[in-house]
Amino acid sequence: MTAIRMDGRALAAKLRAEVADDVRAFGEPVCLATILVGDDPASHVYVGKKHEASHEAGIESRDHRLPGDTSESDVLDLVAQLNADEEVDGILVQLPLPDHMDEPMVLRAVDPAKDVDGFHPLNAGRLFLGEPLHVPATPLGIMALLAEYDVELEGRRAVVIGRSEIVGKPVAMLLLAKHATVTICHSRTRDLAEHTRAADVLVAAAGRPGLVTPDMVKSGAAVVDVGVNRTKSGLVGDVDPAVAEVAGLLSPVPGGVGPMTIAMLLRNTLSAARYRRLGVALPGS
Ligand code: NAD
Repeated sequence: MTAIRMDGRALAAKLRAEVADDVRAFGEPVCLATILVGDDPASHVYVGKKHEASHEAGIESRDHRLPGDTSESDVLDLVAQLNADEEVDGILVQLPLPDHMDEPMVLRAVDPAKDVDGFHPLNAGRLFLGEPLHVPATPLGIMALLAEYDVELEGRRAVVIGRSEIVGKPVAMLLLAKHATVTICHSRTRDLAEHTRAADVLVAAAGRPGLVTPDMVKSGAAVVDVGVNRTKSGLVGDVDPAVAEVAGLLSPVPGGVGPMTIAMLLRNTLSAARYRRLGVALPGS
């Protein structure tokens, strides 16, 4: 079997065009503010892409880039200022923050209504309770890819490798909300392959290049590779490309989940603007 490639680039382009139409229809300016502290090159590239994509979708953006030795209280002051700014709909704090900062505390300072990354405990709790407001963009992108390729979830076995707050846990919640039977695996899971081989849907988000090999995958499974690993041979995912010989569907790296994340961030920003200014129904309801 050669897996069908789940084309995140094409789907993301379609979703971004839809967001651009919806922003025009909204009729009021929509604004995303980002905060980046330090000089991590990958973070600068990611934030740059987010601004470029916002601009293309007609979303205004504010780009706050602060030196690595900025104090935590200065970052908290900036967050407070953006929280209070009526023109700002979404606030994104690019991770990782420098070591001298308490990352969870800074994320908790963002107004939950403007928390377009969905990392605030209130948004995480709402997802847990099945009443989502803002949901992290990468898990939303994974779900959109699965939906685009008509992957059945109800009653199927879904296995998620990774239990981070950013990918593993929220995607597990979203799969559960779609009535999949969900197993979360992590670095202490014994016999990972025993779990993954039972999966109709496998989401790999461990950050371990080539972790998932063909012998770990059920024939015909849908495999979503979230991993982004910089190796000597370039950017690789968590899934060995040879898995394409076994899986029914496989998302590539690059060109799978990555572009979907940005598309979903834009959608979250528009949702935040609608929610805050119009008080409309929750995006997840
Ligand atoms: P993380 O380091 O916070 O979490 C990794 C998780 O994987 C942990 O829960 C850990 O227990 C688990 N894990 C590690 N090694 C394992 C192993 N050998 N077996 C089973 N589980 C194992 O990472 P994260 O932030 O969740 O990101 C995961 C990957 O997804 C990274 O490669 C990251 O770069 C990528 N990512 C991509 C996007 C995107 O937009 N494409 C967005 C976020 C993260």
